[in-house]
Parts: sequence; C-alpha cells; structure tokens
Amino acid sequence: MNMEEQNKQREEVCPGKKGKLDLETARARIAETKGPEFWRSLEELAGSAEFREMMHREFPKGASEWADSVSRRGFMKLMGASLALAGMTACTKQPLEPIVPYVKQPEEVIPGRPMFYATAFTLGAYARPLLVESHLFRPTKIEGNDLHPASMSGTDLFAQASILGMYDPDRSQTVTYLGDVNSWQGLANSLRGPLTAQKGLQGAGLRILTRTTSSPTLADQLFTLLKAYPQAKWHVYDPVNRDNVRAGAQMAFGEPVEAQYQLQNADVILSLDADFLYATYPGNARYIRDFVGRRNPEPGNAMSRLYVAESTPSTTGAKADHHLPLRAAEVESFARAVASVLGVSAGGAKLSDEQQKFAAAVAKDLQDHRGSSVVIAGDQQPPVVHAIAHAVNQVLGNAGKTVIYTQAVDANPIAQTDSLRDLVSDMRAGKVDLLVILGGNPVYDAPADLGFADALKNSNISLRVHLGLYHDETAELCHWHVNEADYLESWGDTRAYDGTVSIVQPLIAPLYEGKSVYEMVALLAGQSDATGHDLVQSNWKKQHPAPDFDMFWRRSLNNGWIEDTAFAPRQVSLKTASFPPPSRAVAQGVEINYRPDPSIYDGRFSNIGWLQEVPKPMTKMTWDNPVMIGPAMADRMGLKTEDLVNLSLNGKSVTAAIWVQAGHPDNSITVFLGYGRRRAGRAGTGAGFDMYPLRYSATPWFAAGVDITKAGGTYKLATTQGYQTMDTDVGARPEVRTAALDEYRKEPNFARDESVPPSLTLYKPYDYKDEAYAWGMTIDLNACVGCNNCIIACQSENNIAVVGKEQCIIGRHMHWIRVDAYYQGDRDHPKAYFQPVPCQQCENAPCEVVCPVGATTHSTEGLNDMVYNRCVGTRYCSNNCPYKVRRFNFLLFQDWDTPQYKMMRNPDVTVRSRGVMEKCTYCVQRINEHRIDAERENRKIEDGKLQTACQQSCPASAIVFGNINDAQSRVSKLKAEPRNYGLLVDLNTRPRTTYLAEIRNPNPELES
Ligand code: SF4
Repeated sequence: MNMEEQNKQREEVCPGKKGKLDLETARARIAETKGPEFWRSLEELAGSAEFREMMHREFPKGASEWADSVSRRGFMKLMGASLALAGMTACTKQPLEPIVPYVKQPEEVIPGRPMFYATAFTLGAYARPLLVESHLFRPTKIEGNDLHPASMSGTDLFAQASILGMYDPDRSQTVTYLGDVNSWQGLANSLRGPLTAQKGLQGAGLRILTRTTSSPTLADQLFTLLKAYPQAKWHVYDPVNRDNVRAGAQMAFGEPVEAQYQLQNADVILSLDADFLYATYPGNARYIRDFVGRRNPEPGNAMSRLYVAESTPSTTGAKADHHLPLRAAEVESFARAVASVLGVSAGGAKLSDEQQKFAAAVAKDLQDHRGSSVVIAGDQQPPVVHAIAHAVNQVLGNAGKTVIYTQAVDANPIAQTDSLRDLVSDMRAGKVDLLVILGGNPVYDAPADLGFADALKNSNISLRVHLGLYHDETAELCHWHVNEADYLESWGDTRAYDGTVSIVQPLIAPLYEGKSVYEMVALLAGQSDATGHDLVQSNWKKQHPAPDFDMFWRRSLNNGWIEDTAFAPRQVSLKTASFPPPSRAVAQGVEINYRPDPSIYDGRFSNIGWLQEVPKPMTKMTWDNPVMIGPAMADRMGLKTEDLVNLSLNGKSVTAAIWVQAGHPDNSITVFLGYGRRRAGRAGTGAGFDMYPLRYSATPWFAAGVDITKAGGTYKLATTQGYQTMDTDVGARPEVRTAALDEYRKEPNFARDESVPPSLTLYKPYDYKDEAYAWGMTIDLNACVGCNNCIIACQSENNIAVVGKEQCIIGRHMHWIRVDAYYQGDRDHPKAYFQPVPCQQCENAPCEVVCPVGATTHSTEGLNDMVYNRCVGTRYCSNNCPYKVRRFNFLLFQDWDTPQYKMMRNPDVTVRSRGVMEKCTYCVQRINEHRIDAERENRKIEDGKLQTACQQSCPASAIVFGNINDAQSRVSKLKAEPRNYGLLVDLNTRPRTTYLAEIRNPNPELES
C-alpha cells in the first residue's frame, strides 16, 4: 500500500483527521457558534462535530485500528533498530582519569545506588551546568546543577535529551578516509607532510573552522597554534549565531560587550522579539527562575509586567501581559518609537494606531520604572535594534540594576557570517591547502549564497579533515572524518552565560574511541598522544599554579564550576544616543523569518528521537517543520494547514507544507531550520523540509519578498494539538483559569469550584490519616513557561519509547506528561497558556473500577498504581479516564535489542512491552528509594528532598510534589492557596494533582 492509500485509509478511521476544517468552514462555524473561551485548535474553536467526536474518544480513532499491515508485521523502531555493537569498545567502561562525584556522594560504587557527577553541556558556546546520574558508570539521566548560579537545578530540553544523543547508535563510530575505515594513527601519518609544508609557509594554506566556543583551553590551544602558523586562520561559524548581538553592542558602546539581565530586579520588561525564556536563549534557565520569582501574585509581592513585541509566536510571548504581533522588520520601527519617547534620538517611526498605542503605554511604563525596567532585543533583530535597547537601558538608569555588561562569553567573538564568507573566498582563490573542520555541518547549514559545499568540493584543497559526531553532509565531502567523542565521554571546559567556567568531566570512556576537539587540535600541534584530560588540566595548572592545585581541581570537578571565574561587570558608556532614521523604508512584500527549531535547533539534534517527538510549544508539531502562517493571510491566499506550497526567494525555491498558526503576524511567514537532513541518521534523515536553501548571508534572520504559490497536494503533519482534549462542557469548567491581578486581589477564590461532598461515592473512602505519606502535586500555571523540559525529563527517567511520525499521526505517542497549549480570544491575536497534564492520581479513580484484572489499583499513599504484569490490554481504563493521560503500547515501541539503549535505561523502571498500558506514577521508583533510606535512618522523608523527574527538571519550579498528610509541606501550603483548583472536579474524581491559576498583570492603559 503506498503512502497516499495509507493516508486515505487513515482518513477513514480517524475522525480527527477526516473532519479537519479548512479556514473558510472554520470561519463560518466560528461566526455562528459560541466556541469555548479557551481552545487548542481551529476545529475546537469552531465547535465542529468531528472535533467533538474525537474528544469523546480515549484515543483518536485511528490509534486502535490496524491501518498499516506493514506496521503490524514489523514496527521499525526509531530509537535504535537493533544495531550490533559495531565499533563499541566496551560496556560501562570508566574514564581512565579520576573523575569526582558531586557533593556528599560516597565514593564507593554500590550496585543499585546511582552516583552523580557535575559536568556541563554546551550550546552555542554557553554552558548548561549539569549533574549526571550514573549507574555503575553508565550515565542514565541529566539534571541541572542546583548549586550553579546559571542553573539553580533547572535544565533545558536539549541538555535533558543529550543523553540519548550520546547513546545514539547512528553516531559515527570510526575514523574514515575516503569513506573507508581507517585509524587515528593513519590520520596522524597523513597530516605529517601537509603540516610540515605549512610550517614552511607559516600556515598560509592552513584553515581551521570551528563552531562558537567559550572553552578557555580550546581557545588557548588554537591561539597557540596560530602563533606557530602565523598566516593560518581560525574561522568560526554557527548558523544560529549572535553576530547581531555583538554588532549592536559595538554600535552602542564601541566594544562587543555582552548583556546579562537581572530579571529579579525588573518591574517592567520589554522584549523586542527576544524569546529569552526558551532554551535557545543563553542563560534561559536562570532567566526563567528570576522572571518567575517576580510573578508571585500574592499580597506583599510586587509582580512584574512583561510586554512582548514579536514576529513569531513564542513561549515568551505566551507569558506576556501584553503581546504585539509584528513583522520582524517592523520591530525596529516599534523600538524607535518607544526610544524616542524616552529621550533617545531614534528618528520617527510610522506605526499603526494599535502599535502607536502599545508603544506609548510601554514607554510610559518604562519611564515610570526608571532603574527597575529592562529592554531586551532578540538575537534575530538587526544591530540597530540592539543598540537602541542598550541606549534605552542606559537612559533609564537600568544599567547596573537590571542589566550588567561583561566581556563576551565567546572566546573568539568575530562576525561569523563574514568569517565563513572569507573562508569560501580563500577556498575559491586556491589559498587553502589544508582545511580542518572541527564540529559543525556547514555543507548543510551555511548560507545558500556562499556556495560552501561547492567550494569545498570543487576548490583544489589538498586535504580536508572533519571531526564530528556523525558522518554527516560535511563529512561526506571531506577526505578524512574523525568520529568525535560526545561531551559525556570527554574532558573539556566551557563558560556559562555569566562567564563561570565549568570543567566538563566524562561520565564514561568513549563508546567508539572517539576523539575530542582538544585532542584534534593537539594533533595539529604535533601531540598525537595528548589526552583531553591532560590538555585541560595543564591549561588550568597555568591559571592556578598554586601548590594546592589538586585540591582546586577536585573542588572544581566536585562542584561543577571554578570559583571566581564569573565575569566582572564592565562599566560602559554610550557612544551615541542618536540613531538616524533608516535610509530605506521597511521592505514590502511577504516576509520570511528563519528561526532555530524549538526541538532540534539548527539540525544538530535531528537524530535525537526524543526531541523529534516532543510536541513543539506553540503548535504541538512533532517530526516536522511546516511553514507557519497567520490565519488572516491564510484566508486571503486560500491556504489551509497541510497544503503544500512553493516558497521562492532570490531564485531559489523550496516546497513545504503549511501550518496555520493563531497569533502569527500578518504578511509574514516563519520557517524553522534544522530539517530536511540527508545524512542525519534514522530519525533525522528525510524528516521535514530543508529551509537553508532559502537563507542568505545578507538576510540571515528575515527577508522580504518571498513568493508563495500553491504547489498542489497536501502533506501529512503529525501534530498532537487536538489529541487528548478533555471534555469540559464548554465554559462551565475551563481547564485553564486566569484573572488579572486586581481581579484576583478582589476575588481570590475565583478559580475554586464548589466542592463535591465526600459522601458522594459508592465506595468507602480510604482514611489516609494513619499513613505516613499521602502524595500530591501542584502545578503553577503562572510559573509554567511551556519549555517542554518536563516531558523529556519524564521520558528519560521512565524509559518512555519514541513511536515515530506515522504512529504520532494516529495518536499513539507515549509521553506520560503532556503540555497543552491553550489559546483565548481572537484567532489573529489570542492570548496563550500552557498547562502540563500528567496522571491526576485521582482519589476516586475512574480507571481503577473498570480494570477487569486489577492492573490499576490504589496504593495506601494515594498513588494510582499500574501493575504492568497484570495488564491484558483491554484499555477500559483509558476509555474511562476523563483526563486522557494513559498511554497504550499498541506495538513493541521499545527497542529491546540495541545494546546502547540497554545501557541508557533507568534500571529502576520497568521497560514495557507491547499490549501494556502505562502512565505517570509520580516517579514511584524515586518515592521507594527515599522511603527505604528514610526507614533505614529511622526518619521521615524530608519535604522537598524527594522530587519527581518533571519537578526536578523544571526551571520555573512550577511543579511541586510532596506529602499532603503534612500540613507544613510546601505542596499542602500551595493546595491551601486560593488559586488552587482541580480539573473536572465535578466528576468527583478528587485529583491529587491540582493547579494554581494563572494571574496576569495588565497595564490598565492597554486594557480598554
Ligand atoms: S512545568 Fe514543564 S513545561 Fe512548564 S516550565 Fe516546568 S518544565 Fe517547562
């Protein structure tokens, strides 16, 4: 059966897909129907019959049908697919050098007791400080480093999922020469002659291309190498770079300083297209913590106010008290208008009445909060917007209070697009004899107009060497490829957003004898046997020559950072507070925005199944990157979700599917980078659409004049947006409850439901009074920023399988916690909300009474347990669950064979087979571990020490878990707050998980 026939069959069995509304129909229905106040999709907003049918089902109908006979015979597992141990050196081999466990861990390995080690994951030069859980020297789970100022225990989804990246069996496993297996020694021999020749030429033909790095050791190695080869050049390129940020600081202050925001001091925040709460933004874990800390609506707390003007709906925009959708090119005009009111000479700006009103209100609020406000410009905005933001912060006296300036975290802060352009020009001019590419994949992700791939292939470069985790598109065009060691397998150092250095210590010896970037640079310097450990340590010995070096080293490894390495604030002064109006008017025509993908970033994570399958924050899209377009524009063009279109810009064109996104600015589209890979691995190859061919060096973030034409036909997208929708009886008991701050102060109990009498049940209530513990959870919607971290943390902790796009389309995704995105109001400019939904652990659990074999039962501590061994797969329980939080293994989703995944799994959690229902258990394995410890030490479990995986990873501290039998526990206190409410409590389910309503702090001037 071909794909089209399969889709047709699926249409017939899946009402959620069958009745998908086009915009015309949806608009007509919306006009005649009073839809719900909060909605998740256009179908829901329109109140379609098809949508209601889907809502009343436990799973989308197709989930329980055998729509594909091939799937029945042999499901292709996307996490691994039974690779042999090709190239793997050993299982659970400890690194050769001594590594140091975190804080108070015993140093002896006790089987069954995990150890924790501090290390750091780096993205775009910025470290994310971590603690890694290790079982018998097998790293199994990532947590944030709770003592590190840049983490404070929060992480992000990229760091969480990096453990699956380390175990990815598709990683490159050997050194190759012209595609054939070779060796490190073979490479050393091959380099000897060319390097000697370059010595004589002072390195005139030597070029090194790296990704952005903040590593002090690597920078020292490369600058030392450049001294030995003075004519050689070190180029840097990342497709998601901060060129605009640097150029903006240069324009404002005359030096490329970096801004660090102190959001804990900010009463008013203006984001100019800056998604500073999402994982793609440096320092986001700390920013979330500081931002959320100022959003407490209880009396006695001064709640901050957030304004966001943005070109693409984002998680930061969703948290805004006021949100203004703008085309990316209009953000500059808006910034100029605000700045002009505040005394910065920023030229006139033509704004619409709505924009003008917004700008005036924001400017007044900033003015009223001099010294306690902050303006943040987004990395995608041009340098002048950054310079204006700096000028406004200076004029308002915010510098030193809500924003400080430091030296750049980047060890080689050069303009990266120019750097890559220079390299291509040297390649074409025949000036490059030896090119060493250390990480990165420029053949795939370089700007289209530079023609990097062509220059690499067709210039006369004698030797091209590539170091990378995958034998990717760039490796394919190089003579030598070296399999890179993952950061969890290698030594290194890196800086957090505040400059603090972390030593990266390996958790396991390299699985495939990979080499780190440090060892590659040492090889170029003639030290083919140098180890990463010795290179990093000797660099720090130079910085810390004191006799107590061993103590210093141990302490740094133990804590996860080196003391006193945070950058000191720099005094800067404005070079100019005058910004002449732009010489050219804002370009007309449809604008195209390029953004790093929220899940797979620039494409480097495209083979990590967890990230492919996590529903993206605003669209709940999995496995794809459709073109985002606003509803009004889609109406005008007659486009609907899943239509295929051709996008053409400057002579290049890409065909991709459409996604109509509520709240997207008009006359503008957004495309996400990182998809359409040719050589990513089984999960990433072929997924989505490659948008890099439309990206040019002069317009890396947005461009005007993209031509959109219908390509004919449709393309299946795997969004979970409409799935697992709870039937809440429109308007009567909304899932999301929200109020403005002053309304809340007047009516604090607005979110509470009338309580159902405890006697209203056929079953005898269990008395928990005599139990030591009764577990419960609260989730604060005010704090949740929709970062998806909890989903990945839960997946990692509980060995949850990836199912693949086809299975997601028919609603079989397995996540135990989902984060629903709700919209409220007008589809062109709605407010957005996030609501994480795990199992609600109902006291009167509807799932328990219908299970014919007693596989789901109630524990004496109030948990709704799942006994996998008893489950016979009737699925009555999920049918009876009003929250739709149970997941069924329709196929053998788990990869039981690939050796790497056996090493990765949490040994404390069962790996489920097919035909079994599974669900959130409040991480019962963690509860048991803490209970055993407490009983052994004859004490009770201390409040706050026992955390579920979602709670521990949450950078916003939105999730609180604990003992509701203890009136003094944090969870009990939160449940006593007036904002506390339960979902669907009128069903008398008595959920143990409850929510704290979201409170906004609107500006009265913008409310009318
Ligand atoms: S609850 Fe989940 S989605 Fe919300 S902020 Fe915490 S980790 Fe992110």
